[in-house]
Amino acid sequence: LLDADGSARATIFAEMSALATRTGALNLGQGFPDVDGPEPVARAASDAILAGVNQYPPGPGTAPLRQAIATHQRTRYGLEVDPDTEVLVTTGATEALASAVLALTGPGDEVLTLEPYYDSYAAVIAMAGATHTTAPLRPTPDGFRLDVVALERAVTPRTRLLLLNSPHNPTGAVLRRSELEAVALVARAHDLLVVTDEVYEHLVFGVEHVPVATLPGMAARTLTVSSSGKTFSFTGWKIGWVTGPAELVAAVRTIKQFLTYVSGAPFQPAVAQALTDPAALAWVDGLVASLAERRDLLSEGLRDAGFDVVRPDGTYFVLADAAALGAVDGATFCRDLPARAGVVGVPVGAFTRAGSPTHDALRTWVRFTFVKRQDVLEDAVTRLRSAF
Ligand code: PMP
Ligand code: GLN
Repeated sequence: LLDADGSARATIFAEMSALATRTGALNLGQGFPDVDGPEPVARAASDAILAGVNQYPPGPGTAPLRQAIATHQRTRYGLEVDPDTEVLVTTGATEALASAVLALTGPGDEVLTLEPYYDSYAAVIAMAGATHTTAPLRPTPDGFRLDVVALERAVTPRTRLLLLNSPHNPTGAVLRRSELEAVALVARAHDLLVVTDEVYEHLVFGVEHVPVATLPGMAARTLTVSSSGKTFSFTGWKIGWVTGPAELVAAVRTIKQFLTYVSGAPFQPAVAQALTDPAALAWVDGLVASLAERRDLLSEGLRDAGFDVVRPDGTYFVLADAAALGAVDGATFCRDLPARAGVVGVPVGAFTRAGSPTHDALRTWVRFTFVKRQDVLEDAVTRLRSAF
């Protein structure tokens, strides 16, 4: 968690957003929408505040929100969870993931993640005192794909937890049923617990999102994490959740109560409304359609500018290789990009472990987000085309 000189390290998102602010460059770094979610949902939160929903809510989350989450899992995926014992509301997916890793692992345990990986995973595995191992996702003509053989090879007798993420940040890969079946086989064969980060579950473009908990034998060993931030474009509300077997959820709750105790009272009724209101769910469908167009706009623009681009099937993000533009190192390329092109991206190295084969393989790659207004993306594409 510290730099080599011992100073505290800012996350890559904070560093790159500060760079955008300082230089006035277009910020395609940190993934957050520049248009808010549905107005009636925002109004539900403000109504709740004015109606006095401002004190500590129940520790596990309000009953209507836990019920709405359980209903979402059943109607969307056929997953049955008991809203009283198998659902926990958290302060964003970030807290759910941290609490799960702290609850389930400790010194001597290995936690196996995909690589590249969302940056908080490495930090919370370190906080738990556990050891981080990885299996690579690699660029192919068919998108970033998981090397399942490497995944199985990375399992040791000390592996306790498989920490999955699909749709995947930063690659935009959506793991296919066949990939997930192979992962599930490994989890069952080695009796692993699984925590799966599915915050982008709704943000898929013409492909199916398969929750790993729906595969045979997996619900009993899997904690599924999601969040309202990405689905409803309210990333600052920080209402997330975890669902799964009662004893695993109870373990996560034990940690959560000493991290934040409870989570944002007035946002909980608003998210409960969003998850159950057909109009809010239709709004999400519209978001997905527009994101697919914006993905194409940015991907084509990056390609025209000279990047090698792997088209993502989900999330907010596209990965682009800047090697053909003369990049030797993505971090340096991204630090120079505001001056060269007036655009900010995030080096993919920030999602890898220093010195790993994936770190080296993706050394010149950059992550750009397309969850920005179309005019912003058009401006970015124009700037990139004329800069290179
Ligand atoms: N997991 C992934 C893969 C993410 O991209 C993000 C958000 N950026 C999170 C977790 C955190 O979600 P939240 O804001 O709900 O804590
Ligand atoms: N999840 C978003 C991203 O990957 C933002 C996360 C953050 O700022 N911590 O860009």
